[in-house]
Amino acid sequence: MTPFLAQLAELCHTERARAKWVIVPTHTLGHTLGERLALQGNGWANVRFATPLDVALPMAAPFLVERGVDPAPDGIGPALIMRLLLDLPSTVPAYFRALAEQPQMAEALWATMAELRLAGITAAALPADAFANSSKHTELQALLASYEDHLVARRLADRALVYREALLHLDVCPIQAADLRIELPTIIWTPLERRLLDSLPGARVTPRAVALPGLDVPRRMTSLAAPADTMPPAPASNSERLALLMSPAGAPLSDDTLTMFCAGGREAEVEEVFRRIAQAGGALDQVEIACAMPEQATLVWEKAQRHEWPVTIGPGIPVALTRPGRALLAFCAWVAGGLAASGLRRMLQSGDVRLGASRGSEGEGDGLTAGQAARLLARAEATWGRQTYSAALDRLIESLQGRAADPEQADEARARYAERAAQAQRLKEWTAALLALVPEQPALPLGQWLDAAVAFVKTIARKSSELDGEASVALTESLADLRALGDLARPASEALALIKSRVDDLTVGGDRARPGHLHVTTLADAGHAGRPRTFVLGLEEGGVFPALVEDPVLLDAERQRIDAALRTSEDRSAEALYRIVGQLGSLGGRVCLSFSCRDLRQARATFPSWVLLQAVRVLKPGENWTYDRLVDELGEPVSAVPSEPGRALSDAGWWLAGLRRTDATAVPAVREGFPALAQGATAEAARESDVFTAYDGLVPEAGPRLDPRVSGAAVSPTSLEDLAKCPFRYFLQRGLGLDPINDAEPDPDVWLDPMTRGSLLHGLYAAIMREIRDRRETPDPARHGPRLREMGKRALAEHRALVPPPSDGVFERETRDFLNDLDLFIKFEAEDQGRRPLGFEVAFGGATEGETLGRREPVTIDLGAGLRFKLRGRIDRIDQMADGTYDAVDYKTGGAFLPGGLEATFAGGRQLQHALYALAAAELLRARDGAARVVGSYYFPTARGRRERQIRPVSTQAQAVEVLRDLFDVLGAGAFAHTPSEDDCRFCEFDRACGREPTRRAAAKIDQTGNTILDAYRRLQAHE
Ligand code: SF4
Repeated sequence: MTPFLAQLAELCHTERARAKWVIVPTHTLGHTLGERLALQGNGWANVRFATPLDVALPMAAPFLVERGVDPAPDGIGPALIMRLLLDLPSTVPAYFRALAEQPQMAEALWATMAELRLAGITAAALPADAFANSSKHTELQALLASYEDHLVARRLADRALVYREALLHLDVCPIQAADLRIELPTIIWTPLERRLLDSLPGARVTPRAVALPGLDVPRRMTSLAAPADTMPPAPASNSERLALLMSPAGAPLSDDTLTMFCAGGREAEVEEVFRRIAQAGGALDQVEIACAMPEQATLVWEKAQRHEWPVTIGPGIPVALTRPGRALLAFCAWVAGGLAASGLRRMLQSGDVRLGASRGSEGEGDGLTAGQAARLLARAEATWGRQTYSAALDRLIESLQGRAADPEQADEARARYAERAAQAQRLKEWTAALLALVPEQPALPLGQWLDAAVAFVKTIARKSSELDGEASVALTESLADLRALGDLARPASEALALIKSRVDDLTVGGDRARPGHLHVTTLADAGHAGRPRTFVLGLEEGGVFPALVEDPVLLDAERQRIDAALRTSEDRSAEALYRIVGQLGSLGGRVCLSFSCRDLRQARATFPSWVLLQAVRVLKPGENWTYDRLVDELGEPVSAVPSEPGRALSDAGWWLAGLRRTDATAVPAVREGFPALAQGATAEAARESDVFTAYDGLVPEAGPRLDPRVSGAAVSPTSLEDLAKCPFRYFLQRGLGLDPINDAEPDPDVWLDPMTRGSLLHGLYAAIMREIRDRRETPDPARHGPRLREMGKRALAEHRALVPPPSDGVFERETRDFLNDLDLFIKFEAEDQGRRPLGFEVAFGGATEGETLGRREPVTIDLGAGLRFKLRGRIDRIDQMADGTYDAVDYKTGGAFLPGGLEATFAGGRQLQHALYALAAAELLRARDGAARVVGSYYFPTARGRRERQIRPVSTQAQAVEVLRDLFDVLGAGAFAHTPSEDDCRFCEFDRACGREPTRRAAAKIDQTGNTILDAYRRLQAHE
């Protein structure tokens, strides 16, 4: 028991009925002291634990209320100061205003203002000669005066005003003359608090405190803390000898109450503490963990959650770690980043937002989970900007609805596409609602941004725990505090930075030590709960004491000249040192000190604090201790893996500890313990063999369902070419209905992706050629060039409204190239008068767009010997040549490239379009010319395509029969091998589904002729 607590116990015993006021800095501490007294068997009555504000309020409030003055809202300070600073008249010299946009500047200014106010310093009393820079003095004085005026004008009272008012009404003090009052020793109160405490009635009892040998009492403690009766430490154990930290003396005791260890990382340090707690047994509420670095408290909390240990966290958990906090930060980043779809996708993938009224664990809403929404958004290929979402999702919905109505698809697949279309519609509505929250104009009153943030937290951010609920309330209240600034118009970036700083500053879930719970606190507050076992974590060099850095607003020299009560950087260090040594000395019981020798996140070595060096001197005095010897003394750093399986806290820890010193002979045991791992190993062995197995794409059951000769479903030339390129990918896409996850960030140098560019060019080629055909004209660059350019510009403008370009420079460059390709198209058409265009975008099995050659139904191709199937598609153009033959032309708007090379005819089935379109065109032309001879060709009419034209002769169509038969036999067998060619994988987005080296493994299986099921695929590959 500390001398102060023993003194309280005595008072409770000797002054049983008398009112005893104990002045403490926080209610939490008061509760803890009261509880500790009772737990140690000291009954007490009429003890009032109160803060100075608790005492001042009943003295000041009636008089303030009578004058219509309300308490100033907590937490508005930094934002208010920012506003007041920006509103200062231009006649006041600007010193801090240039930095006012930085949220940290507002925080620093507010902290200084509050400090000045609680030191009783008014604007009028701010001495000019204290400042080296007169502009700084003038601006700071004007700011302080403006704050004082604000309080008067709004009839508000801050803490400083409450204390001042209380000092005027000592006659109504709740502490009576007959009462006892005692202050917690060594607490450095503010000057106004000190004045109040010194003026209170009641019999003052001098508190007792332990002297800390070798340590000077901090300068401000002598004037602002209560005078105390100090007594030399009388340690009864090694842990109590920590009071001698600064002056190790005397003989150590033969007990193990003070231990130390070194860990190989901060996570390992926490894990080791947990292991030691578990190993020692006993109740969790007998243990306190004190963190030298506040962020470690969060790490301990996370670990406790993982092991499901009940825990109380004194400093609380940063709101930024809760779902509502994370979601609001992601929302701010998304808005600040130009509403980029990648940002929204990450927000959805995080699981921190919900899509509907339901509050399920997946954040789902009306049949759409956040994960599904993220995938749909990726498929929609939205880019950035407000307009992109609705346009991209409309395109996706249309495409999904088209696939849902596609007769080539199986019933199950169609139902799946219809469901996805409905989900995309739901996502479109959700994004519209989300975008409606985001103010549109760049500079708007802050109130609108605050409303948006509050609405986001309330309706979109997910809450899945009590802590999330607390965070949601804390955030909305904290943002509501800023309403006083509602009419201040600020740019979006500043408004978002202000909201973000709010999130960063808030913590929730802070609690005192409670029965049944492990307690986590900071080192500065260690030991108040009086638990018999304490772990002090994070005793790293540079992490225990504040850095000796001057305040950014008031320098040390200015502080000294303004008022001796203001804290300088040296005071801050000395006070922290005194407090921490005092807390360590008061711990008692069993104490374990530790540090981590690695910061794994920053991949750097870390070193022990001098506190550890002093502690080892306390433990083993009389030896010549250095840091090197200390490190040797602490021994091998502990790791996250326990030294013995018996010390493990989880299954994973048990396995890892068990495997520490074993070799491959342990593998069977691991596989027996983890059947999924064993299954994975079996699959890998099968893939690595030269036998074609179920793990490589052998699915015989799927054959009849996907073979169009059997199923009767219509197929397109593109899908058949895809099958030839990689049967495995075909099975994933069309057999299993999988889509790749597109998580690539948009390229800041690209606006029109190849597919969009090609689709726009195809549409414009058809539109201009239809106009020319309908007017019976011939292509003429002078006449039709400007017209096509105009149509092109309009198409680009429409696309721009939907998908904003990443920059003006990219837009200009791509527009120039695009229009240049349109000019080339007309020029080439004018020069190529040997062909008569008959139809453009001629569809078979889809909307005909008025083309007389087109038809809504697929065509049936019957090549004899059972090779009969339905084909659907769209021929870019059908021309009649001078010799009366026909050409089914396929435009290629990229470079002059075809899969398998320009010289190939079929390239193992990768080039099929020419033959299939020629067959289909002959069918479509039958009514007009029963003996039509049709060739198929590829035409590259752009600058990159260099006007390449590849015509495949009619004779290739006979070969096509063999190619198609082999292709369909691959399907029929259900042999969906991976491609053996790396070229096919180059732009494939399914690579994550293919395991290691799929092409090498596939080649081994294809080369193994014993795999007869791959015969058809081998034949297919041989068609050049
Ligand atoms: S990555 Fe290669 S092997 Fe895998 S699915 Fe794509 S094309 Fe086929």
